Amino acid sequence: MWVMKVGGGCLRDAAGIRQLPRVLNSAYGESSRLLVVSAIGKTTNRLLQIAEAAGRSDLGLADALLTKLRDDHQAIIHELLPDGSAHQLMHRLNEKYWTALWQRVQALSHLSEEIGYATDAILVYGELISSEIVKAYLEAQGFSLAWVDARRLIVTDGYHPEPTVIQSASQANVDAQLVPLFRTHKLVLTQGYIASDLRRRSVTLGREGSDYSAALFANMLGAQGMIAWKDVGRLYSADPNIYSDAQPLTELSYSQAAEITYYGAQILHPRTLRPLRERRIPLYVRPYFDPAGEGTIIAEKWVYPLPPIRTQRRGLILIEVESTDLSPLSLTEMLRDMENEGIEAYFVQGGVRTAAFAVKGSQDSLERWRAAIPAGWEVSVRQPVTLYTILYPDATLSSPNGEAIYFQRLPDRVHWLAYEG
Ligand code: ASP
Ligand code: MG
Repeated sequence: MWVMKVGGGCLRDAAGIRQLPRVLNSAYGESSRLLVVSAIGKTTNRLLQIAEAAGRSDLGLADALLTKLRDDHQAIIHELLPDGSAHQLMHRLNEKYWTALWQRVQALSHLSEEIGYATDAILVYGELISSEIVKAYLEAQGFSLAWVDARRLIVTDGYHPEPTVIQSASQANVDAQLVPLFRTHKLVLTQGYIASDLRRRSVTLGREGSDYSAALFANMLGAQGMIAWKDVGRLYSADPNIYSDAQPLTELSYSQAAEITYYGAQILHPRTLRPLRERRIPLYVRPYFDPAGEGTIIAEKWVYPLPPIRTQRRGLILIEVESTDLSPLSLTEMLRDMENEGIEAYFVQGGVRTAAFAVKGSQDSLERWRAAIPAGWEVSVRQPVTLYTILYPDATLSSPNGEAIYFQRLPDRVHWLAYEG
């Protein structure tokens, strides 16, 4: 059993979807496979814009954006399928999804539910629709496959924006509803990113969460391996779009890969590695547009030496704390309170009088955290900063230029923070 994930970047247009049969024929055709797909291209961003317009009660704009999104999907369908089947599919999608989606958009403008749920109820359509298009296209190409709605499989606590998966309930669904499909089909198709809560409401797993979905499925199915087909193809020691000397990484351990994604490498969702590591399932990152090409293998083995690896994590909030009444600051206490509020600290530096943190967290949780700080400690919250990291720095490393507001050198890494220009 293999779990394969194909993201929205790969499925960005008709040519991207046409690549899918080649990819499927290139790898593990004899084994059972679960194919996990994301929404087409930038659909999730576009659905978010639609939800935002509806949230401002601008239904005119929401309608125009939704019409454009549907037209773009229809253009892709026309390129993929002969007229008769294209019309049939579009009819089906209208009945099953686009009409219901418009109702969700209208409902959001009246705000009858909490905004997080109302938005998620809109976002899930991206993956549902793309998986239907992929199914119709693969069938037209002679593949026989079963399709399943991932919301019936993955159950979460519904917490926004990154809910916690309820393992036992999800495993029971997978055993009862997914495993039996493999008795009649070698290939089963489902969606990444979408799930439900205990009240069966639709939720999403956090942006770019399809990798994570695929890893959860691999874990629950006890797969031999997971393959993440990527348009970038593999992991590099830096973003190859920025650094011309970026080197490909052929092998990494789970923890090395987790660290790289945690500090900002965009290629994998940071939550992906844990479910895989738990059952020692290797992850193969492979080039979608060159299925025979080399990728990156992520498994248990510690890889040494690695070249210096550069990452950046944008959009963090810089918090500076100063003790103004001579009482010593307690980093431990402040970090514990952050954790309790769901605030993630990516960078910490400090002593007894001043401290700095670069964190990710919602406005509300930051307000609550701040309210609990003792009166003699003064807190200031700064504009967004980027955390730059170099893992495994070598001797030739030059210090960052004047842009760094904080700099930290540890034995196996260097971090610095800079304001975002
Ligand atoms: N479509 C979702 C997003 O763009 C999930 C994913 O692509 O992994 O965030
Ligand atoms: Mg996407």
